[in-house]
Amino acid sequence: MDHLDRLENKSVNILREAYSQFKNLGMLWSIGKDSTVLVWLARKAFFGHVPIPLVHVDTHYKIPEMIKYRDRFAKEWKIDMIYGENKVALDSKQTYPDGNVSRLQCCKFLKADALKHTLNGDWTRYRLNHKKGVYEIDENREAFTGVIVGVRADEEGSRSKERYFSPRNKENTWEFGDQPPEFWNQYKTDFKPGTHVRIHPLLDWTELDIWEYIQREKIPVVSLYFDQGEGKRYRSLGCYPCTTPVDSTAKNVEDIVEELKTGKFANIAERSGRAQDKEDGGGLEELRKDGYM
Ligand code: SF4
Repeated sequence: MDHLDRLENKSVNILREAYSQFKNLGMLWSIGKDSTVLVWLARKAFFGHVPIPLVHVDTHYKIPEMIKYRDRFAKEWKIDMIYGENKVALDSKQTYPDGNVSRLQCCKFLKADALKHTLNGDWTRYRLNHKKGVYEIDENREAFTGVIVGVRADEEGSRSKERYFSPRNKENTWEFGDQPPEFWNQYKTDFKPGTHVRIHPLLDWTELDIWEYIQREKIPVVSLYFDQGEGKRYRSLGCYPCTTPVDSTAKNVEDIVEELKTGKFANIAERSGRAQDKEDGGGLEELRKDGYM
């Protein structure tokens, strides 16, 4: 068994454990490489069919190619696909791109608040009708009480404080100083009633592991990760007003794996192209405490 097999086994194990222990589970799909690997692992864990709805928070500022990719593979992989949004903030133009709020406020409105109210069912959710090929208002307003998320500990400082099974309170708030210990792969999965749990099957994976796994498994990813001839590519995907590409001539997965192995990005944070992270002093901890990914 090699390194990738071990990572895969552990993640599959966590996914199955989560599915057996929690009702009303959802899985977040940001359309980036990590959460796409998570979807792939879930397909493996459950023999080709993902029995957990995938939830996407649509800020309406995602690079359009990301949304096309989401809908293409949601249909191809027969995924129970749901998206939510902050309609009030969008309609009243309380966004950074509209020039009315700071980036941090905008992320709070369009991401953290939208996620919270999508998960608890307060706000309208849209579900893909596979027969018609369109999204329709979801009549099911039941809250998701457990959410599987593709964060990695090495990605950014506050993420390294997460657990595989990480409790939040009813308000989705994260007490990052008070997390249960997880020794010797013994996960605590019994929480007080009303606890909302975030589950992180990719915590041990690095950026290189993710790309080597994408290479090995031939997982399709958004082409924005590759240089299209201009000597630039996205290392991390997000909203177009706040995400900038890095200098790179990597045109395919193999090139990215080679590039990462050279250590070119060893001292450059993976999310350095995300302007909103810098407004939080590079930490993201406060936003993540309120539910941000
Ligand atoms: S990344 Fe930019 S556009 Fe997207 S929610 Fe945050 S501030 Fe708004």
